[in-house]
Amino acid sequence: MWKVLVTEEIHEDGLRVLQEAEDVELINRPGIAGEELLKAVSDADALLTRSGTAVGEELLERAPELKAVARAGVGVDNIDLVAASKRGVVVINAPTGNTLSAAEHTMAMMLSLVRKVPQAYYSVSCGRWERKRFMGCQLHGKKLLIIGLGRIGSQVASRARSFGMDVFSYDPYVQASKAERLGVTLVPDLNIALAEADIVTLHLPLTAETRGMIGEELLGRFKRGSYLVNCARGGLVDEKAVAEALKKGHLAGAAFDVFSKEPPSLDHPLLSPDLADRVVLSPHIGANTYEAQSAVSVIAAKNLLASLRGEPCEHAVNLPFAEQLMDVSKRKYLTLARKVGQLAASLFGVPQKFRFAMLGSLFSEESYGAFELPYRYAPYTVAALKGFLEVRHGSGVSYMYAPLLASDVGLSVEEVKGEAFTYKNLIGLTLEEKNERLEVLATVTEEGRQRVVCIDGFWIDFVPEGRVLLFSNYDRPGVIGKVGTLLGKNGINIANFALGRKNGSGQAVGALQVDNAVPQGLVQKLAQDADLLWAKVVDFEEDLQ
Ligand code: NAD
Repeated sequence: MWKVLVTEEIHEDGLRVLQEAEDVELINRPGIAGEELLKAVSDADALLTRSGTAVGEELLERAPELKAVARAGVGVDNIDLVAASKRGVVVINAPTGNTLSAAEHTMAMMLSLVRKVPQAYYSVSCGRWERKRFMGCQLHGKKLLIIGLGRIGSQVASRARSFGMDVFSYDPYVQASKAERLGVTLVPDLNIALAEADIVTLHLPLTAETRGMIGEELLGRFKRGSYLVNCARGGLVDEKAVAEALKKGHLAGAAFDVFSKEPPSLDHPLLSPDLADRVVLSPHIGANTYEAQSAVSVIAAKNLLASLRGEPCEHAVNLPFAEQLMDVSKRKYLTLARKVGQLAASLFGVPQKFRFAMLGSLFSEESYGAFELPYRYAPYTVAALKGFLEVRHGSGVSYMYAPLLASDVGLSVEEVKGEAFTYKNLIGLTLEEKNERLEVLATVTEEGRQRVVCIDGFWIDFVPEGRVLLFSNYDRPGVIGKVGTLLGKNGINIANFALGRKNGSGQAVGALQVDNAVPQGLVQKLAQDADLLWAKVVDFEEDLQ
């Protein structure tokens, strides 16, 4: 039974998913905090939260059994992603459940702004009938600039088009084909776009790049008399600069659902009484619909269950890839990449550079999804990193932790894609440090067999399984015999043998699959007695988790 602790008010539809799961013991403690929370997490397998529970180092430290944390909402700002990843805790969110609600609220804010609906209500409620005062403008025919054409931006685009707006977008990370499908013109230059837009709406994530993006300088580029709508994240905008632009008449109006500090204080610049006829504000309610709350709770609960059960979990923020979603041939390359990492770690000292190559059509069409961590590598690169690092740092190096650890140890990781040669698909790992370099190439054959095919230019062919004694020697008669005899004398059985040569080098590389452990002392004796250039034993781990 998985113990799932719910720490905040979660919509009943999401709770029902957990109640009906036979392998879950649901502990519903909305509002639990402080020492009580730290006690309650001590044997919890999973947490279901919203934005009010801080999941940081202290909580994680006190929750040794914790495997997953799900947030019924979009962001994960209350969860320390790096600390969770280091402990192998899967972090889940529900980014899709409130897309439509947020898009509809954006339209509501836009319409309220240009028709001054809140101000008109207030006027009527005061017993006035000021029809002339509330002269607005139509959305029809206006130019709408959407900054950030993701899930919500796209939904806003289609709604705005149905209002007859001329929609264009600035989003340097989106495919032109997506914009085309939405009937949106993508503009590469934000300054030019701002100068043309009648209304600008933000649908960006808050990242190091976007924080404070709309400040005094960019506001100066807005067309005079234009409107700004922010239903995305507070930190995107310098609200003081917006208030100044409104006061100067450069902006005609602004509608905000989100603020740098929530709730905003009463002396917030946008609450200045002289701006009351040009500003529309709401208390971060973009996702506050019954439908959205139900949807996010169900998505979070289902993903949490999937993650506990080891099933595909599409909204895991910190999992570098979903192994379960990869087909068999790709999984073979994944396990092979890890073995290549293990092999390279056994043969090389301390590299500065770790270059992973994916060659062939198998790798050309991959898309790995975005996640808010300071790295984004292909699954195969992550697997190779894991294989490499676990040889030195132990089996605790998870897929989540491997890229973080690589950065901690100062490994510069590079990925390369290209055409395969000799084989249909190939993966390759190159390690470099000053004048030293090691390259390993490997493939999966048509029959699905994993093979290491080249080590440092020596073409060889062996199966990376079990225990392999690798060595290099001068290419002259008698060496292999000596190695075999010594191993035999020590009761070590050879299961397989492969030899590789490099033209003109006068050297060879040998790979002996052995049935028993080879003591370190014997490896040294082999190197000495058989006059080997080097000899190493590589243990290929079989299980992938
Ligand atoms: P998303 O990840 O689907 O889309 C974000 C888009 O922004 C992506 O297309 C990305 O390429 C683009 N982008 C990133 N950096 C950019 C940059 N520097 N310049 C231009 N474009 C850039 O996210 P989403 O689900 O559409 O959410 C958008 C925002 O809305 C988020 O900040 C989210 O937190 C917020 N949100 C608010 C509410 C609310 O209650 N007001 C509800 C839901 C979501």
